[in-house]
Amino acid sequence: MRAVLSIGSNMDDRYALLKTVLDEFSSEIVAQSSIYATPPWGVTDQDEFLNAVIVVDVNSTPLELLRRGQKLEEAAERVRVRKWGPRTLDVDIVQVRADDEEILSDDPELTLPHPWAWQRAFVLIPWLEVEPDAILHGTTVAEHVDNLDPTDIEGVTKIQEF
Ligand code: ATP
Ligand code: CA
Ligand code: CA
Repeated sequence: MRAVLSIGSNMDDRYALLKTVLDEFSSEIVAQSSIYATPPWGVTDQDEFLNAVIVVDVNSTPLELLRRGQKLEEAAERVRVRKWGPRTLDVDIVQVRADDEEILSDDPELTLPHPWAWQRAFVLIPWLEVEPDAILHGTTVAEHVDNLDPTDIEGVTKIQEF
């Protein structure tokens, strides 16, 4: 199955922490975006994030993939102090496709597609870089980006190759 992962960090060595995800999936990566600097979302009085999107081709179930992401978060010694607060590493599964069919889930442990992705510039802009024609909620990623608030788009800055 193909999965789109959104990864982010706003603590410690942010780039090195994002890189642990790239290393974990090295042989399964189909596409990787650049690294973007993005303002915090939801809880805004915290440090700037680095975000990226990667597309992976994995031989596992969506839940197994979630567990792999959680292991990376644990390895980064992520501590949950408050919802949407600062974190060393966040690995979210944005979308999963098997044979080009999107897998949907309303399980709170793994909701697919990720419920907020369609309105988050820090997910959509890196995703646009790698899969502009991907369809989310019946609309292309490019169209979702067009619908974002211009201020949200301006906040997301490409800073380096991943
Ligand atoms: P948000 O989900 O709004 O981006 P968050 O990433 O800060 O917030 P976390 O504390 O990292 O939230 O995750 C809370 C729970 O979300 C996890 O325990 C996980 O089981 C669940 N979850 C549900 N859907 C997904 C998904 N698509 N990807 C990753 N985790 C998910
Ligand atoms: Ca998240
Ligand atoms: Ca998460």
